[in-house]
Formats: sequence, structure tokens, C-alpha cells
Amino acid sequence: MKWSHPAWIEIDVVQWVRNLCAIRKRIGTRRFCLPVKANAYGHGLSLAKIAQEIGIDLLGVSCLQEAARLRSQGISMPVLVFGAIHEDQIDDLLALDVELTISSKYKAELVARRCIFLQKKCRVHIEVDTGMQRTGVRPESVADLVSFMDGLKCFELIGLYSHLATSNVADDPFAKFQIAAFRSLTERFKVRQLVFHLANSGGIIHYPESYFDMVRPGLLCYGYCSQQHENFDAQILPCFCLKAKISYFKVVKEGEGIGYGRSYLTRKQTRIVTIPIGYGDGYRRSLAEGGKVLIRGKRFPIVGAICMDQLMVDIGEREAYVGDEVVLIGKQGKEEISLWEICHQAQSIPYEMLCGFNDRLPRVYLDSADHYKSSSIAQ
Ligand SMILES: *Cc1c(COP(=O)(O)O)cnc(C)c1O
Repeated sequence: MKWSHPAWIEIDVVQWVRNLCAIRKRIGTRRFCLPVKANAYGHGLSLAKIAQEIGIDLLGVSCLQEAARLRSQGISMPVLVFGAIHEDQIDDLLALDVELTISSKYKAELVARRCIFLQKKCRVHIEVDTGMQRTGVRPESVADLVSFMDGLKCFELIGLYSHLATSNVADDPFAKFQIAAFRSLTERFKVRQLVFHLANSGGIIHYPESYFDMVRPGLLCYGYCSQQHENFDAQILPCFCLKAKISYFKVVKEGEGIGYGRSYLTRKQTRIVTIPIGYGDGYRRSLAEGGKVLIRGKRFPIVGAICMDQLMVDIGEREAYVGDEVVLIGKQGKEEISLWEICHQAQSIPYEMLCGFNDRLPRVYLDSADHYKSSSIAQ
């Protein structure tokens, strides 16, 4: 990091690697695809570099832009682009040497045209829609697509995958239906020796029968289960903290309005501290109502509207100084504000909340020396 900044995200790399190791234990020798889309779920792409060092098999991104960012950071390991292909991005995708998702004859044809023109081959996975109705070829059309792609002579077909719509709950009939539909495809195409993959985090947690040849857990790698209080593995814990430093302190008289719109009125003389983080960083306005922060190991309420760059906290009679560390997500002393708590407040989910924290917040990686370098999660 080049500049110091008074609000930041801390990532406990040792814990993150512990999460990956715990998942590796569960999946045995299957391949491990790590989704690092949306800035590694807000954790920052430095984790992708570590993933490369410790033997993750494949990184998953959503689009060209994300793939290009990985390559520009010197990450040379295999990358799979999950998202649908757009015609005007094909040349750039081919230049990045990433694995692509083919989900229709039309897309296959578009890519093939550029491959032939550029005299390139392309490693691809076929995406099958087993019921989510988002992207992917219908199961009954897979055979036709495969032979069509064989005929085009520019594809190295390495995988076949699908995505679960309801894996965040256990024992769900629709998840079971999708798994069965996918299983019958794996049987039909067994001779092709493809890498068959289906499980996201929910699949890992609730459906061991969804593991097949490779898994793609995102959220779980970052330490969260699909539901709060879910107890999948005691080793797997969050590794993300949101922190800031108090930037201002003032004593405010009784009956004063705090911030824009003066939506909060002090009921008596009190101490207000200002924290340099706001919705411009991804700390949402909806967190004002009932939101709390930790200062000196105690919880204090956010008061008034959250501004773009700042928010105010009422510390009552307590003591706090400019420069004190504030925890907005994470632990301080014996207190904790969990991401789940913040999600309830903002009527959001961990996925959305984590992706919402943007680049104005530097990511600080805590790794006790070379700790993680000795751990390999390669199969
Ligand atoms: C994002 C994504 C995943 C990871 O999902 P989680 O629920 O975070 O585990 C897996 N597969 C695909 C295709 C995805 O887009």
C-alpha cells in the first residue's frame, strides 16, 4: 500500500488459508476451483496470488475485466471465466489464455470464428442449465453441442458444469433434482473424461453427492456458511475486518441535530465522534438505523444519516480520542460485530455486503511471516 488511509479492511490470511485447508480435507483429491470474482468477494486480489502459491487448481472469475486484472497482476495459473461470452470481447479473452464457458451453439460459433482467424485453440467448459434458468444449454441439447464443437476443431473441451439454485438449504428437493440431472449427464459423457463440476458453497455444506470432480466454493472459502449459525466446520471462520480511525471528537449540547437532515437529536449533552467512512466506501446508509461500531471494546450507536465519506457515533459519557481504532465489522476486545449483524441491519446478505466495499478502502493483509507459504493445499 502506497498511502496510509484512515479506513481499511484487514484480511487475516492465516485464517483464510485455514479455511481452504478445511475445505480441501472435505473434498479429498477432487480439484479445487476458487472463485475470486468481485475482487475476491471484496477481500482483494492479493488472495489470488496466494491461491496460486499454495496450489489451488483453478481461479473463477465472472468476466473479461476480472480475468485481465488477474493476468496483469502476474497470475499465470488457469482461470475460468464463468460469465457468458460477448462477441466484442472474444479476441481479448483468447489473448489472456483463460478457459471459457460455452453455453450455446451460437456462442461456440462466435468463439470458433475468432479462433480460426487467429489460429488459436481454446480450452472450454460447457455450461448446462439443470434448472436455474439463467445461462447454460439444456441437458437434452448437450450431445448436439458437443458434436458441433468437435466439428469446429478449435476447442479443447475440458469440463462440463452446472450451477445450483437452492443449495443454501439442506435437503432441498430442487437441489436434489439438479444434482440427479447433472449426474445423468456425467454418466452419458463419461467417455470424454471431462472435469464435471457443480458444487458451490451450499453444495459443499449440504450435498456431498454434488462434489463430482471439482468444486467451486466462494463464500465458504472466505469463512461464511450460506446461513447464519450454520455449523459446517469449526475451522472455517471469517477473515475480514472493517476498521477506521476516529477523525474528530466534539461535545454536543442537548437538543442538537446530528448530520444531514438533523435526523437525530441529542437528548442530553453528549460526546460525538466522527469516523471517516461512509456509503462512498460501501458502508451503506441503511446501516444508520440501529447500526453499531466498537470503540475501546464497547458498542456505540451510529447517529444521524451516514454521509458519503463520514459517519457520526454517540459515545455518551465515555472516553475516546482522535486516532482511536474503530471496528465496524469484526472483533475488538470481547465484543464483536459480525458481518451477519450488518447484513440484518441492511437487509442484505454476506455476498452483497462484501462485494459492496470498494477500492477506496485499502486491503491490509495480516500474515504472520511466512506462515501460509509452508501450507500447501494441493491434492
Ligand atoms: C460465484 C459462483 C460460485 C461460487 O458460489 P458460492 O455460493 O460463493 O460458493 C460457483 N460457481 C459459479 C458458476 C459462480 O458464478
